[in-house]
Amino acid sequence: MEKYEVVIGLEVHAGLSTKTKIFCGCGTKFGAEPNSEVCPVCLGLPGVLPVLNKEVVKYAVRAAIAFNCHINLYNKFDRKNYYYPDLPKNYQISQNYFPIAVDGYVEIFIDGEKKRLRINNIHMEEDAGKNLHSEDTGLHDASLVDFNRTGVPLLEIVTEPDMRSLQEVEKFMTALRNVLLYIDVCDCRMEEGSLRFEANVSLRPIGEHQLRQRVEMKNLNSFKMVLKALKYEIERQGKLLMEGGEVAQETRLWDDKEGKTYLMRSKEEAHDYRYFPEPDLVPVIIDEGFIDRIRSSLPELPSAKLERFCGEYGLPPYDAEVLTSDRLLSGFYEGVVNIFPDAKTVSNWVMGELLAILNEEGVDIENCRISPGRFAELLEFLKGGKINALSAKNVLREMFHSGKDAREIIEEKGISQISDEESIKEIILKVISENPGPVADFRKGKKKTLGYLVGQVMKATGGRANPEVTNKLLVKALEDSGGEV
Ligand code: ADP
Ligand code: ZN
Ligand code: MG
Repeated sequence: MEKYEVVIGLEVHAGLSTKTKIFCGCGTKFGAEPNSEVCPVCLGLPGVLPVLNKEVVKYAVRAAIAFNCHINLYNKFDRKNYYYPDLPKNYQISQNYFPIAVDGYVEIFIDGEKKRLRINNIHMEEDAGKNLHSEDTGLHDASLVDFNRTGVPLLEIVTEPDMRSLQEVEKFMTALRNVLLYIDVCDCRMEEGSLRFEANVSLRPIGEHQLRQRVEMKNLNSFKMVLKALKYEIERQGKLLMEGGEVAQETRLWDDKEGKTYLMRSKEEAHDYRYFPEPDLVPVIIDEGFIDRIRSSLPELPSAKLERFCGEYGLPPYDAEVLTSDRLLSGFYEGVVNIFPDAKTVSNWVMGELLAILNEEGVDIENCRISPGRFAELLEFLKGGKINALSAKNVLREMFHSGKDAREIIEEKGISQISDEESIKEIILKVISENPGPVADFRKGKKKTLGYLVGQVMKATGGRANPEVTNKLLVKALEDSGGEV
């Protein structure tokens, strides 16, 4: 296997969150009553004509800019012909010959190095409907079709075969999703089908430059499935090649239950879509002013923000990457830093404690009750010695659950830190007299017992003793052979 290089390219479908469909006025909301969001246009009834929704063009231009593409000021639609019960017109309106955007890229960080993964093109198209079979309907003698999704606008984003590892694929998918969320064009809910991936993979001997035959995989409904399917397929192809076989160009489906891909169709059975220019729609002509207005309305993008976070706040790239992965999280971070300008401390607490709590509770930063101001106040208490780090973690949790501020919780619980040396000395003496064994060990040179004794002081104070003061006084007391502080 080490002789081979993995080559991966992705085709991504992003369902746009426009209010209405791409060629008619029907709504796009997921989960509506089946066949309630339909009209003669999206049902493909005879005699109707599509009218392009301008919002879709705006969304496509937003994405094109965000993915560093060249925008084709002249672009147009084509018909992709095929028959399927969820496609009432027997063709899908897409862009084949003149897509709206080409030649872009997504930047990822691999081991601290920046890598560009190229995007071949982005085009606009309409989604198909959804066939419902017995597992969805409970009917055993019929399948049903829901046309609510026909005509929902999609962007198809096609990459060049630039990915060389699963790690790169994962980073690409994450970066792509983050950008789509930042620019507000797609809600990226994979479980609802608004973000879908098809993965193409081939292996070639290291050093070879030509591309080999590839396998395309469909039915990948989560990042995890994309990665699992690729892993399986890389192994399958590797084995074939090592046995002297050849990989056939084919489309395979991922079966998540079995953990396998299986053949859907071979190259011979591949569709000939007989693309031809869509006669019912005029070309899309975009002017520079339109693009400029959209460009100036875009928020700062994750990659630019990442670099700014490294520069402005001196954060390590890892921190900056995590904090900028989500627009709201990065906003929260900056909100805290504006008040409590110790960038690295804030980063540690946001990435460590806050994200841990949100993860455990399955809550988004959007619905977190802790405001940046209150978060900053907590860090201020920690810095000022009012509470120690352990208490601060507990207070944060309590803030999350109760919605109270740190001051209130600290007062209620009586957990303000004990820093006053006299009080700590008193407890230390007590701990020393109650633990003759560990104390003797320490004095014999077993310095590890210090941690245990510090722990005893903490226990005696309900975790409230200032750890630095405790350490200092305890060492002093232990090293003094008389045991006096
Ligand atoms: P088609 O025109 O048949 O759809 P494309 O050239 O558009 O094929 O490629 C579709 C996808 O497959 C793209 O994402 C591309 O990066 C990827 N791809 C193409 N060739 C290979 C290959 N040899 N190995 C892996 N991925 C590939
Ligand atoms: Zn409609
Ligand atoms: Mg293609």
